[in-house]
Amino acid sequence: MSRRSNYILRRLFNRRRRRPISTADGIGFIYIIRERVLSNGCWILKIGMTNSLDRRLKEHRRDCPNPNRRLWRFKGVGFRRRVEALFHLKVESISVDRPRTSCPFCHRRHQELFMLTPHQISNKLLPLFARLS
Ligand SMILES: [Zn+2]
Repeated sequence: MSRRSNYILRRLFNRRRRRPISTADGIGFIYIIRERVLSNGCWILKIGMTNSLDRRLKEHRRDCPNPNRRLWRFKGVGFRRRVEALFHLKVESISVDRPRTSCPFCHRRHQELFMLTPHQISNKLLPLFARLS
């Protein structure tokens, strides 16, 4: 279990929100990939950002042969780096876990994965999606 406590996540969120926007930041995509659905109904989601979604998805396909991915994308997000960092902390705070186990398809430990129950997805993640789009 590598999910951090809500107290720590709230502190990190507030600190990150106060940080000035980096000059490397800019408009781009935030994407959410459903990597797999567990037998208990939980979803494993990957959340990332990029300024070139085609390139990033090609990299994902090259690095890991998972055939079951499903993608949601939000384009034209201003300050994608800042939004991604804050979104990671928010999603972690509503999740069951931030798994660090090795992937069944490529045997690596992917970063930025989150495990959510169907209830957390419909009641907490969907409202966050709505704020992104
Ligand atoms: Zn993999």
